[in-house]
Amino acid sequence: MSDRPRDAVVVGSGPNGLAAAIALARRGLSVLVVEGADAVGGGARSAALTLPGFTHDLCSAVYPMAAASPFFRELPLARHGLEWVHPPDLLAHPFDDGTAAVLKTSVDATADGLGADAEAYRRLMLPLVRNAASLFADLVGPFRIPRHPLLAMRFGWPAIRSGRGLAEAYFKTDHGRALWAGLAAHAVLPLDRRPGAAIALMLAVAGHAHGWPLVTGGAQRLSDALASYFRSLGGEIQTGRWVKSVDELPPAKAILLDVTPRQVVALAGHRLPRGYTRRLGKYRYGPGIFKVDWALSGPVPWTAPGCRTAGTLHLGGNLGEVVAAEQLPFDGTHAERPFVLFVQPSLFDGSRAPAGKHTAWAYCHVPHGSTEDMTERVEAQVERFAPGFRNLILARHTMNTRAMESHNPNYVGGDISGGVTDFGQLFTRPVARLNPYTTPDRGLYICSSSTPPGGGVHGMCGYFAARTVLRRLGVKG
Ligand SMILES: Cc1cc2nc3c(=O)[nH]c(=O)nc-3n(C[C@H](O)[C@H](O)[C@H](O)COP(=O)(O)OP(=O)(O)OC[C@H]3O[C@@H](n4cnc5c(N)ncnc54)[C@H](O)[C@@H]3O)c2cc1C
Repeated sequence: MSDRPRDAVVVGSGPNGLAAAIALARRGLSVLVVEGADAVGGGARSAALTLPGFTHDLCSAVYPMAAASPFFRELPLARHGLEWVHPPDLLAHPFDDGTAAVLKTSVDATADGLGADAEAYRRLMLPLVRNAASLFADLVGPFRIPRHPLLAMRFGWPAIRSGRGLAEAYFKTDHGRALWAGLAAHAVLPLDRRPGAAIALMLAVAGHAHGWPLVTGGAQRLSDALASYFRSLGGEIQTGRWVKSVDELPPAKAILLDVTPRQVVALAGHRLPRGYTRRLGKYRYGPGIFKVDWALSGPVPWTAPGCRTAGTLHLGGNLGEVVAAEQLPFDGTHAERPFVLFVQPSLFDGSRAPAGKHTAWAYCHVPHGSTEDMTERVEAQVERFAPGFRNLILARHTMNTRAMESHNPNYVGGDISGGVTDFGQLFTRPVARLNPYTTPDRGLYICSSSTPPGGGVHGMCGYFAARTVLRRLGVKG
């Protein structure tokens, strides 16, 4: 492919890189995406990791934020092969007594399962879910004055708390509190640190409004649909080309980097003032993850019936246990009983495994850069709520933080969120600037999850970076 000049070059084809590329190509710009890996998709890819006939999601697997993304929702992705799979229930959080708290599509049905917390759940969620579209339009992006200030305040009041703060202030049952603790654990923050509740609320509102879907055939199909739509707009993609310096790229009016601050410095530090690269150097990355994928001879034998209809499971017991397990990776320690995020795709998507067989996906948080093998501890947590699970294992594939980072250099030290998402870095990622997508070099932009609104597959970082580029080039966005 030629290195002739383009309007824009995007380095990295993760969800944000592809979103940025699409947003630019839709306005008539010539755009080239350069990807180091052999396949597009970054954190949304799938492959046969274990045995022939089993398809596993290498990174992300469940897509509440993609389904709720104001930008992805505008795109004709179904015409480009994307098909969502909606498990009957969104999430189950089992307990040792054989029961489970279940996040269902309907707010009322979820509340009904929470006993004495039913009314508290309705009061908190109904006003937010009814106005989900306005909420996402205001909150999923860089910091700006909300167009719906009352709604933003209604969300903000519980959201500025820590995960534990929200659970304890609003709920009194073990089930209600643990459900919120598990949701807050997605923030990859100690459960005592603010604003973990914001991520928990976002995920719950997105789930009630749009589901927690999987992708038929695996995560790669989502990326392939984005890439296919991008190509239909005239966009070009080069895979298998790792960029070491932005100087290697074809001439372009704008270069957008779908990478994290450390890589921005490596690729483009020589074009940026020392003060700015020093600030990028202070960017904080969080704990890593240890991931396990299994090929199974049958469905997971959960004790709690509620676990058999949910796509995602949170395995970690009550609030106190989740708080303890999620603190340890921040203290540089491995939990003996880690909090495990578990997904069972093949139960709802028959294309993932041979007939009668199944796939499962799980990870737990570990200290930044950890090389500890957590397989035993992860499997013990599954076995705790599904006795007999181990007997079903036909094959497994594991990844520690080093394997994660060599699979995708954006996962620095195994951090899958593109950096810590606490108050210090929520809106000011990667550094405090009026427009976080810009750099002091007017031709160079950052569009990865290290910009607002942060981690997850939603493409909104890429979308807002592209809008900045369009504005600067004088193209109507
Ligand atoms: C195990 C795991 C589970 C997850 N689960 C979920 C989930 O269920 N739901 C969810 O919404 N999110 C999940 N996430 C998070 C989600 O995948 C990320 O937040 C998202 O992919 C970030 O998108 P991005 O475009 O910013 O970066 P990435 O997806 O990381 O893409 C960056 C791309 O840039 C490429 N690249 C980097 N450096 C270079 C270079 N020098 N030259 C060329 N190419 C380069 C990489 O190869 C990669 O393709 C998960 C992540 C992991 C790892």
